[in-house]
Amino acid sequence: MIGLISATAAGAAARDRLAAAWPDRTRVYEGPVGDAVRAAFAQCEQLVCFLATGAVVRLVAPLLSGKAADPGVVCVDEGGRFAVSLVGGHAGGANELAAEVGELLGAEPVVTTATDAVGLPGLDTLGLPVEGDVAGVSRALLDGEAVALRAEVAWPLPPLPVAAEGAYTIRVTDRAVEPDGREVVLRPPSLVVGVGASRGAPAEEVLGLVEDALREAGLSAASVAELATVDAKAGEPGIVEAARRLGVPLVTYAAGELAGVEVPNPSGAPLAAVGTPSVAEASALLRGGELLVPKRKSAGNPAMATCAVVRRPGRGRLAVIGLGPGARDLLTPRARAELRRASVLVGLDQYVDQIRDLLRPGTRVLESGLGAEEERARTAVEEARKGQAVALIGSGDAGVYAMASPALAEASDDIDVVGVPGVTAALAAGAILGAPLGHDHVSISLSDLHTPWEVIERRVRAAAEADLVVTFYNPRSRGRDWQLPKALAILAGHREPTTPVGVVRNASRPDESARVTTLAGLDPATVDMMTVVTVGNTATREIAGRMVTPRGYRWQEGAE
Ligand code: SAH
Repeated sequence: MIGLISATAAGAAARDRLAAAWPDRTRVYEGPVGDAVRAAFAQCEQLVCFLATGAVVRLVAPLLSGKAADPGVVCVDEGGRFAVSLVGGHAGGANELAAEVGELLGAEPVVTTATDAVGLPGLDTLGLPVEGDVAGVSRALLDGEAVALRAEVAWPLPPLPVAAEGAYTIRVTDRAVEPDGREVVLRPPSLVVGVGASRGAPAEEVLGLVEDALREAGLSAASVAELATVDAKAGEPGIVEAARRLGVPLVTYAAGELAGVEVPNPSGAPLAAVGTPSVAEASALLRGGELLVPKRKSAGNPAMATCAVVRRPGRGRLAVIGLGPGARDLLTPRARAELRRASVLVGLDQYVDQIRDLLRPGTRVLESGLGAEEERARTAVEEARKGQAVALIGSGDAGVYAMASPALAEASDDIDVVGVPGVTAALAAGAILGAPLGHDHVSISLSDLHTPWEVIERRVRAAAEADLVVTFYNPRSRGRDWQLPKALAILAGHREPTTPVGVVRNASRPDESARVTTLAGLDPATVDMMTVVTVGNTATREIAGRMVTPRGYRWQEGAE
């Protein structure tokens, strides 16, 4: 819950906008501000105060207990110009809240925690449990001192400016190690504990067994991602309670599915009871990985619980990101966030240049020139399969005549894939031309490098006959100059010579140019590979210099 506190009329107006936008997340505290702040501080995870920072500092100072426990506090000034993350930037979430509030109110977020201010991810914000000298290692990163990364488990992390050797270390491990003086230990959620239990097994017995197994194998409970068992035990109180106390979800599988997993220690007892020769080993192994602790039984007599521990491989992450047509403000916030999350960036050099300033320090950039598409796709997938967080970028939308399909054609199901849509050239051009895509439309690439010309021609003909608005991508290059006139001639067989045609070059880039001409008037020589050409349908008109395709028009009498 976010507590909202204001003192003035302007503050109350901004407060009400926030409350209206987030009705379920916010609670308004009225009354004298001192009392309101104290009440909200005690009751809410976060506060937004429409008050001077000085006033808020004085009010919250006596209430602060430590950065792990304090709520996140954001102050918005009287003019609504700034959303200042005042307290609890990381653990309290105030930095993110300041960004969200800023977005909503049109205020600039102000963040002063050092790592965020220079674009480094805070070591305590990576989403992994962290132990050790977070402040010291963060300072070393900021000061440019050598910090070594020792990843004993490959896990996708955002970029960190790390070296091969260093006085400071960031260790990524699921083993039960104590951090050294100049070390932080990040705990990847790499362990899956399979558990079985007879009816009524006490939680203490289950938990004790799991803890003993981890301790004896030298593994850290902070890396346990989940408990796994068979469906029939989904409600077994001892197992449910053990998962709750470990703070991890309980996942369950059908007995038939578990029976299909090959395990080292099958037995007759679970087969008779729940229909699978293995519960603990099979449920831990079902998603793959390495069996670190084979099935063991609890100490009770009779033993009522079994467990097994598996280390699952870190799943790499491939984000396929459309950068939009060029202008920075047509790059989506989601694309920006994904770019900052990746530790490896793969793309065409000219697209990398478009967003290089947004990358976090330490991002490994694998750029290549024109062509080499298959190789870029393969590289991106290979890096993800190594457990990296990879961003593969393309202009416009990365799924439109671009990298998404070759990459996903290479990708197996051992990596996570996320797609971030971008504004494709046809849409960017359409907005410049007017409203040419107001009715049914298609895009056709005139590049016959990968597609036989007969296929392209057949599609152009079909579009012509169906009276679709057509946007041509890859319309003309030095070596490919006859295709565009040919395609236009096919369309001219079904449309008037006066049909409007929009030509947009470098949409949303600094040297953007656009014009509306006609089928008869278009000079193909003015078109190149930086251009899209949009041909109207039989109802498209030029109105006040803009290209307009009516929505839901009726066929005029006399027309076909
Ligand atoms: N994925 C891209 C398209 C790649 S194909 C997208 O979704 O936009 C390359 C073709 O796209 C170019 O030959 C050109 O026809 C078109 N194109 C891409 N960006 C453009 C821009 N900013 N202005 C005009 N045309 C563009």
